[in-house]
Amino acid sequence: MKKCVVFLGAPGSGKGTQARKIAKENLYSILSTGDLIRAEIRASTEIGQKSRPYIERGELIPDELMLDVVEEWVNASSGGRGIVSDGFPRTVSQAKALDHRLKQTFQVTILYLDVNLEEIKNRVLNRRICSRCNSIYNIVTTKPKKEFVCDKCGGKLIRRLDDTEEMIDIRYKTYLEQTKPILDFYGTRVTLINANKDAEDVYKEIIKRINE
Ligand code: AMP
Repeated sequence: MKKCVVFLGAPGSGKGTQARKIAKENLYSILSTGDLIRAEIRASTEIGQKSRPYIERGELIPDELMLDVVEEWVNASSGGRGIVSDGFPRTVSQAKALDHRLKQTFQVTILYLDVNLEEIKNRVLNRRICSRCNSIYNIVTTKPKKEFVCDKCGGKLIRRLDDTEEMIDIRYKTYLEQTKPILDFYGTRVTLINANKDAEDVYKEIIKRINE
């Protein structure tokens, strides 16, 4: 059975960084709903135009819209050797939809990256992403070799429009209200990972848990 690794956690908990590493090293396809939406916004598609105000307010994109985007991704994706999901599900109803769609064909591992708020703020404020390949950097801990330039593809590094001091408080509140309840929905299916540590140490722990 193919594997599907689902990351849950607050903004800045390391979901994107860990998901990319797992996808790369295990040849998994990565489902990053944030990346998909940012690409729609950059291309100014109808979905992008509808989504932008929500991202700008630090709110979640409505489930119906998000589920359409994910469904399209699932249909277009080859599936790779497995799937790793960064940022989906973010509501209990998305979690139910994911279960419904994948439980029969994938062995689903749900990992919750637990990070304290102070660390979250540090990470979000120091985060830069590549505008071309979506690689993630931290200008303190994982600096690019050349300032503002992606090591992997030479693309321009940018700060996400929602990675600001005022937005992080709003996004964290949204997370507590709408995303954290997913932990209760999944109950004992969730594995908690202490993700306050260095990305490499967190990765080792994740691999151990996936292979258990
Ligand atoms: P991320 O890159 O995962 O931090 O996502 C950035 C923003 O995209 C979020 O703050 C939401 O506005 C939106 N978003 C990403 N994934 C979802 C999702 N699964 N459901 C609703 N909104 C989402």
